[in-house]
Amino acid sequence: MSDHALACLRNTFGYDQFRPPQDQVVATLLAGQDALVLMPTGGGKSLCYQLPALLRPGTGVVVSPLIALMQDQVQALLQLGIKAAFLNSTLDMEAIRQVEDQLRNGELDLLYIAPERLLQPRTLGLLDSCRIALFAIDEAHCVSQWGHDFRPEYLRLSVLHERYPQIPRIALTATADRRTQQEIIQRLALEQAAVFSRGFDRPNIRYRIAQKQNARQQLKRFLDAEHRHDAGIVYCLSRRKVEETAEWLNREGFNALPYHAGLPAEERAANQHRFLAEEGLIVVATIAFGMGIDKPNVRFVAHLDLPKSIEAYYQETGRAGRDGEPADAWMVYGLQDVIFLRQMLEGGEAPELQKQIERQRLESMLGLCEVTSCRRQALLSYFGENQHPPCGNCDTCLDPVETWDGTEAARKGLSAIYRTGQRFGVAHVIDVLQGKPTDKVKSNQHDRLTTFGIGKDLAVDEWRSLFRQLVARGLLGVELDGYGALRLTDACRPLLRGEASILLRKDKREAGKRGVRVATHQRFSGEDRDLFEALRNLRRDLADLQDVPPYVIFHDATLSEMVEQRPDSLYALGRLTGVGKRKLERYGDEFLDVLLSFQS
Ligand code: ADP
Ligand code: ZN
Repeated sequence: MSDHALACLRNTFGYDQFRPPQDQVVATLLAGQDALVLMPTGGGKSLCYQLPALLRPGTGVVVSPLIALMQDQVQALLQLGIKAAFLNSTLDMEAIRQVEDQLRNGELDLLYIAPERLLQPRTLGLLDSCRIALFAIDEAHCVSQWGHDFRPEYLRLSVLHERYPQIPRIALTATADRRTQQEIIQRLALEQAAVFSRGFDRPNIRYRIAQKQNARQQLKRFLDAEHRHDAGIVYCLSRRKVEETAEWLNREGFNALPYHAGLPAEERAANQHRFLAEEGLIVVATIAFGMGIDKPNVRFVAHLDLPKSIEAYYQETGRAGRDGEPADAWMVYGLQDVIFLRQMLEGGEAPELQKQIERQRLESMLGLCEVTSCRRQALLSYFGENQHPPCGNCDTCLDPVETWDGTEAARKGLSAIYRTGQRFGVAHVIDVLQGKPTDKVKSNQHDRLTTFGIGKDLAVDEWRSLFRQLVARGLLGVELDGYGALRLTDACRPLLRGEASILLRKDKREAGKRGVRVATHQRFSGEDRDLFEALRNLRRDLADLQDVPPYVIFHDATLSEMVEQRPDSLYALGRLTGVGKRKLERYGDEFLDVLLSFQS
């Protein structure tokens, strides 16, 4: 690695070392070659193009679909003393003209731009007259037509290669299975690109999935025990549930805000802004929230509803713990989730081919939920990584799942469904199995069936768990009529005929709770904690003055290093991770004052 690049890393960004494969990517671009970078969220992708953009003559042009994120990134770069700007639809004409002038005059190190704007003839014309250091195509998986983030404009980005063949390009993504990788290479004409893959593992995230019983109480117990004052995201599928859950959390003494596409744009923007700017806030959201959340200290992502695919689950949970500190991905799910998603999928308008793909995706997601071995292994092997050992940091590793022979019980359950005419949902079938003479049971004369009361040996939760697993494995189908009637499928015949047996997982109420881990600064006590709070208050004031999020000034990790190392000079302060020259000049004295005031 050139001394030049290392000096820039230290002086501008405040880091001592590259995180592999950053060094190789940087070298590739400095040599004028193309690169495709596959790295997990929080892996350090942005540095891969930011640093070469500084070292190569001209402006680095960054294509990103995440308009909400551009302003954040530009703010962070300006804090580092890097000349950066963005062009997107949120700017008025005057502001656009200014940025264009800066670009034309070669005054920009980095320009962030939305794909639709880049592709306008006017913009391309402008770029023709500028010196360009490189093109970075962020979120490159958006080019995949079958992916969940498809952006049609991305298909036209191959124009960059045709129009500027001599300018190096770098495509980056955190979500790409093998097929998507191939699509990126093909559609963006990156056949010559060097491919760098760091693997998709996020070791600091602990994955946990438990059976849904009383979701709110389960969530409350989880938050009370592990995340009382932390920032986090709670995902729900419907807007109504988002609002109700946020209200409930506030009643329970948490600080929660709703976020969904049905809220007025100003309210959405305000809530997102508060989430970024304040500490310890919970956002309850539909999937509309998240594209473009790069707050580093999100300590948990909780799902109250099942996501539609592993891709979606991984992307949503990936918003936790970007700073590398311990973080939780926590979910509860139950039979109702499976029924609901199946109904949505089958009842939707999508063409059959699309449905087939979505069906497969949902099956894989269910497979992950029901797996009895390491969740991380299951997740990563979905993305093509099969070499990982059991992780020791997921619920199934921490609290191995017991299984039980469900053959006999499953036969009883299937038979009850059959005898009641395959017209009823799970609640009624369980009433029949348990011999409960409800009005519905009596009016349908189900108390006269031979299956009436044959399932008293299992509790309601156990029956629900059994039916959920049968549905998840495709032994039971769900009617689309909206009532979720269960029916037998061909797949359950061997079981009914006594030719097959079935092992089921024993669900737990709270899986994987052992060994709660917390972020570094949460371990501080006594004077250390006071110092951390004082540093955090100073950061808050500095951030408020400029109306930027606090982590743009310094990350929690940098503040933690200040507490641990207690630097007593500007020089020592400048040695810490995340303290570059510019930040030392701007903030060094004030942070040093606080540090020295704690020295006795
Ligand atoms: P990604 O875009 O891959 O999600 P980012 O580029 O936002 O990740 O980087 C994630 C975090 O890692 C950021 O807080 C960034 O400051 C930090 N980081 C990146 N590279 C390094 C490095 N070489 N040394 C220390 N920290 C780094
Ligand atoms: Zn594991």
